[in-house]
Amino acid sequence: MQTIGIVGAGQMGSGIALVSAIAGLEIVINDVNESALQRGIKGTASNLERMVSKGKISADKAEAALRRIKGSVAACDFGQCDLVIEAATENIRVKEEILRHLDSVVSPSTMIATNTSSVSVTRLGAALGNPGRFIGMHFFNPVPVMSLVELIRGVQTSDATFDAAVRFARRVGKTPIAVKNAPGFVVNRILVPMINEAIFVLQEGLASAEEIDVGMNLGANHPLGPLALADLIGLDTLLAIMEVLHREFGDSKYRPAPMLREMVEAKYLGRKSGQGFFAY
Ligand code: NAD
Repeated sequence: MQTIGIVGAGQMGSGIALVSAIAGLEIVINDVNESALQRGIKGTASNLERMVSKGKISADKAEAALRRIKGSVAACDFGQCDLVIEAATENIRVKEEILRHLDSVVSPSTMIATNTSSVSVTRLGAALGNPGRFIGMHFFNPVPVMSLVELIRGVQTSDATFDAAVRFARRVGKTPIAVKNAPGFVVNRILVPMINEAIFVLQEGLASAEEIDVGMNLGANHPLGPLALADLIGLDTLLAIMEVLHREFGDSKYRPAPMLREMVEAKYLGRKSGQGFFAY
């Protein structure tokens, strides 16, 4: 693989661009929102600077990586890509529309992946003429720090696509695990209901946000408390994942906490909006 396309320049898309560029790949990153695109590229640049100041990467290598990232507001620039990763907003309709569009602009040999946190990879694959070339490639946040990638095969995903996804994940320094297609896959099926429960605990007034997080830091040895983690993931993304789990399993144990819904209505989305369970 030489050239990677990324759709969505939010926290995940820009993180995937960063690790791929450090691995020597050329990147074309696209966002519908011009200012989100600029923010994503700027964030990547400051991430690289931080890595240089911590001695994790040389200044030359960081500069070269940044030069390999090209921003674009036109998805048609993906024509030369060997792999395109969709990392746009967690919304089935948005993702299906992006995939239908990609199908018409990329070459027939281009592999296509989604970074969805919860949506069925089989369903998304059905938006493509050749779903054999499609796979779920679920990175974790923050991408430069977290080593895991869940690789999710849809019913139609070919063995060649899966093998290429394993090679790509290793090339960008990640450890892939093979996961079956099911709502939330493995990690979010366990993690997100736990965070949702922490929001119920807050809503019921059992403890303050700080105390809930200290409780899980010191009592369960979690490096980040569930509410700080909620703010890092993004409350809109969390709500979307809980809604998928609730709808797909039809089990009330996955109902989103009303407080989570109300915070999203208020546009308190966590770190990315400056306000979540904590202020940033
Ligand atoms: P985000 O809100 O930071 O960024 C999403 C970006 O997608 C925005 O910049 C938005 O403008 C852009 N976008 C929306 N529609 C688009 C379109 N049609 N074409 C191009 N760009 C479009 O969200 P994020 O946290 O980066 O999440 C992106 C994806 O990654 C979601 O599917 C999410 O579930 C998944 N994910 C998120 C996390 C996390 O912790 N936040 C972890 C793993 C996976």
